[in-house]
Amino acid sequence: MFEKVLIANRGEIALRIHRACREMGIKTVAVHSTVDANAMHVKLADEAVCIGPAPAKDSYLNKAAIISAAIMTGADAIHPGYGFLSENAEFAEMVEAHGITFIGPSPKMIRMMGDKVTAKKAAIESGLPVIPGSEGEVKTVEDALMWGEKIGYPVIVKAAAGGGGKGMKVAHNPSEMADAFTLAKNEAKSSFANDVVYIEKYLQTPRHIEIQILGDNYGNVVHLGERDCSLQRNHQKVLEESPSPALNPEQRKQIGEIAANAMKKLGYSNVGTIEFLYENGQFYFLEMNTRVQVEHPITEAVTGVDIVRDQIRVSSGAVLGYKQEDIHFNGYAMECRINAEDPETFVPWPGKIGQWHVPGGLDVRVDSGMYAGYTVPPNYDSMVAKLIVHGRTRNGVLMRLRRALEEFVIEGIRTTIPLHQKIIADPEFIDGQYNIHWLEQFLAENKKKSE
Ligand code: ADP
Repeated sequence: MFEKVLIANRGEIALRIHRACREMGIKTVAVHSTVDANAMHVKLADEAVCIGPAPAKDSYLNKAAIISAAIMTGADAIHPGYGFLSENAEFAEMVEAHGITFIGPSPKMIRMMGDKVTAKKAAIESGLPVIPGSEGEVKTVEDALMWGEKIGYPVIVKAAAGGGGKGMKVAHNPSEMADAFTLAKNEAKSSFANDVVYIEKYLQTPRHIEIQILGDNYGNVVHLGERDCSLQRNHQKVLEESPSPALNPEQRKQIGEIAANAMKKLGYSNVGTIEFLYENGQFYFLEMNTRVQVEHPITEAVTGVDIVRDQIRVSSGAVLGYKQEDIHFNGYAMECRINAEDPETFVPWPGKIGQWHVPGGLDVRVDSGMYAGYTVPPNYDSMVAKLIVHGRTRNGVLMRLRRALEEFVIEGIRTTIPLHQKIIADPEFIDGQYNIHWLEQFLAENKKKSE
């Protein structure tokens, strides 16, 4: 087992990793930018190294500074968390070249899954159902039009290097294709320095359902069930739940097995999430994330598996130690992502936190690096807390979530708590009747009502 792990991230996930390490008797090294000197994970870590100024490109994305910090402190592994360098194959290679373990899958897997064109190819080869679309890259508007005809409109033009919902444009008919193609290509180039795009059928009312995978270096792979992440704004997840209200146990077992078998076939190890769109009883592979995800705690709540702990264990070469039949699904869980944003306009609202009181009680978990008097910097993602609630029934979870949101006190900044309160009070949401467009329609209707 590792003796010392460097955490190459910030915020709640840095704290989450620190906690797992602490419970395993592993020492931690925090790295931070100048504006994060007072962050909670920096205070709690055994050692801390400042790796640069506030802009992420100079600190949390500064590969040389992070690896130097690991060498200097004698860390034997680096945990990248999510975002930043977590899916950067070159970084993983650099880490390993310095004799340090990268806590994640092999650079080869990261590279393959990081490019959506090669990922889709691997998905097809390993037996995962995919969305009908172009066979690989689409290079010209003429080819795009040809694929539009072949697949049938509407279609979506997507960046191979895409992430965070960027570089995606829908064409509803041939007259929209030239614009969609050019816009997606330009956005891909400016956001990812890679203008490769491809085309697939645009599904109109799908749900976003993803399967959590966990595997070791010896071919053992299990799935930990699904998460329904259909509640999205600008292709970004807002509230997640597990299990999905759309699946029955038989469907859950089936897609879980398909996903786990595909990963065995590919020789995938470590944590990973296979994202699917789900429409009319069919699953379609969307992409794979080769890292721990923001919403992993709802899976921890329903399975009792400590995902980050087991990720660290398998990275150190340990065997997984349990089989699929040892995984039992227990109850329901939901997670609200609480952002420092105006709950109606979504304008970011960083600043100094006054009072800070988190809810507690049975089956309530808050993952956050915030505290009273802390100043939320404007330089990073606006998420300030994740509220995770577990219960025996879905209705019980909704009641508990309502109670927990009421108890949450965050003063000094605006947050999206009022938005979550509205969502969980809506009859359609309560019924579990929602798809990936539901939240944006809900927001538009609410706006109209208030005008
Ligand atoms: P990113 O890596 O940017 O998150 P994804 O490929 O995971 O991109 O897609 C993000 C979201 O965009 C999906 O959850 C879904 O809402 C929407 N989306 C992507 N592809 C399609 C598609 N073919 N049809 C309908 N919606 C899509």
